[in-house]
Amino acid sequence: MDQGIGHQRLTLIVDVVLALLSIAALMSLARIRRRHRRMAQRGIASRSDLWSRIAFAVVLDFTLLIVLIYLALVVPAWPATVPIQPAIEIWLWAVAAVLSFMGVLEVLFIAHVYRQAQDAKFLAHRSEIATRVVVVGGGIGGLAAARHLDRLLGGRRDVEITLVNRDNFFLLSPLLFEACSGVLELRHCAQPIRPCLRRVRFIEATAQEIDVARRIVRVVGPDSALRELPYDHVVIALGAATNLSLIPGSEHARTFKTVADALLLRDHVIEQLERADVEADVNRRRRLLTITVIGGGLVGVELLGELTAFVDDELRYYPGIRRDELRFHLFEAGNRLLPESKPFLAEYAERLLRRRGAELHVGTPVQEIGPACVRWAGGQVESQTIVLAAGIVPNTVAAATNVARDRRGRIMTEPTLRSTSDPRVWAFGDCASTPSPEGTPYPALAQHAVRAARVVARNVAAAIDGQPPKPFVYEPLGMMAAFGHTRAACDVRGIKLTGFIAWWMRRTYYLFQMPRWDTRFRIALDWTVSLLTRPDLTKIDLAEERELEQRNQAANGSRVA
Ligand SMILES: Cc1cc2nc3c(=O)[nH]c(=O)nc-3n(C[C@H](O)[C@H](O)[C@H](O)COP(=O)(O)OP(=O)(O)OC[C@H]3O[C@@H](n4cnc5c(N)ncnc54)[C@H](O)[C@@H]3O)c2cc1C
Repeated sequence: MDQGIGHQRLTLIVDVVLALLSIAALMSLARIRRRHRRMAQRGIASRSDLWSRIAFAVVLDFTLLIVLIYLALVVPAWPATVPIQPAIEIWLWAVAAVLSFMGVLEVLFIAHVYRQAQDAKFLAHRSEIATRVVVVGGGIGGLAAARHLDRLLGGRRDVEITLVNRDNFFLLSPLLFEACSGVLELRHCAQPIRPCLRRVRFIEATAQEIDVARRIVRVVGPDSALRELPYDHVVIALGAATNLSLIPGSEHARTFKTVADALLLRDHVIEQLERADVEADVNRRRRLLTITVIGGGLVGVELLGELTAFVDDELRYYPGIRRDELRFHLFEAGNRLLPESKPFLAEYAERLLRRRGAELHVGTPVQEIGPACVRWAGGQVESQTIVLAAGIVPNTVAAATNVARDRRGRIMTEPTLRSTSDPRVWAFGDCASTPSPEGTPYPALAQHAVRAARVVARNVAAAIDGQPPKPFVYEPLGMMAAFGHTRAACDVRGIKLTGFIAWWMRRTYYLFQMPRWDTRFRIALDWTVSLLTRPDLTKIDLAEERELEQRNQAANGSRVA
């Protein structure tokens, strides 16, 4: 009897110890962020400090796991010799798993903090710089090029690499449609540039001029200060802008190119629904409920697809609007949609958009855009929402650079991406014209810009070392286009897919085009939530907010006076 009570007490004590051990492990896991933050603030000064920290973390977090593995391999029957607590094995394995997970995090973070400290030291004490490389434009192509240069040349003390971009983030434009509809949180289609770079200097500034005679890039920063960045090699990846000179009255249309464009369009569409919900006049209602997209290329078609899905989703909150009152128009001057893709994608897009009630005006060049009206040879449509996505022009700074350019203003390059007129200038992406092996220029697409970035970085590194550059040869993998409501089409390496599976493939592909895991994780989370919920309807009218702020300031001022 006594022995029974004694045994029970012992079991209880072991249980309490195990429970305390588990709680301590979990609490330690919960506090890991704070510990890491403190470590990042203090930094890791020396290599010996690094190894002692790693050794400490390994001993603390992996010993239990190693002991358990040893027992399991050498003494498989050890749990039977511990009659006090039959579940001790499972319990200890669970604690060991938590501790090991923490150990992995700990070691990764220690290595990360050490690497950051080393990079900072390296940049601060760089010896005589012999070669300066300036990458102008940190979009899809520019950031990829800077990252490749970082890998190839970042460790060299004689080379300095600088990336200049207008914004301190990079935009993955194929995600802009979902950011506009609210499926994706607006910030998550972008990625801050600084965490993507190790030994590349980043400057948030707008390039004003690339002076090839003096080998200087003139930039103006957010503080409005003018700076001159000397270079030995300049990589121009400034992209393109919407062509506003093609159709008279283009200034009345919205563009869809930047994060701000997506935010403004989203607010505008929601605003039209709010107004139409209470509008009694038939003509005004029709204008408010008509959405027009000009341009039947990838951007125009994907945008219209996303907008039809978005408005459909949100209509249930507007009892004053009937679905058959909504009008969607798409204008394309060419003889089919998606001219940059195979007919298969265009046919699918056409069927889907028509099913959603869109009127597709193919082979119909728009002649004029008015304040709320689009005119073509056969008539006109009144529309409060007009988006222009018909063609692009190269960035103005790139187009004004004093090197050989084609008649559209794109910088002409050799197949190696080097300017045909200046060996110190390299250009690629939407602002350049690079001949493919067939002799025609590569199209303005993200997949080309990303591949060209790798080649341009290798070629710049080769040129610095006096090696010959290699040509950029790329055969497109295919095309993918999404249209909202889990619908997409893709034609990749001859494999044609439509519907949900194509939509899932496109999403997965672009998820991995985002450079860092933290943003990928945020995107995946947004997508998961959006599968179960409807897109958010919140409208943040920045102009209205600013006006309110000014009014409040004026009111406060007059009260003080
Ligand atoms: C909405 C949208 C969707 C798209 N979807 C697809 C798709 O699904 N598939 C596909 O293949 N392609 C797609 N594209 C095309 C693709 O985005 C471009 O081909 C690609 O971005 C070109 O890369 P880039 O580096 O040349 O230019 P960009 O990525 O446009 O980068 C240019 C960079 O230069 C910066 N910049 C501009 N002017 C200055 C200045 N004066 N000073 C400093 N910085 C400056 C800009 O801020 C930007 O960061 C899409 C384009 C858009 C607009």
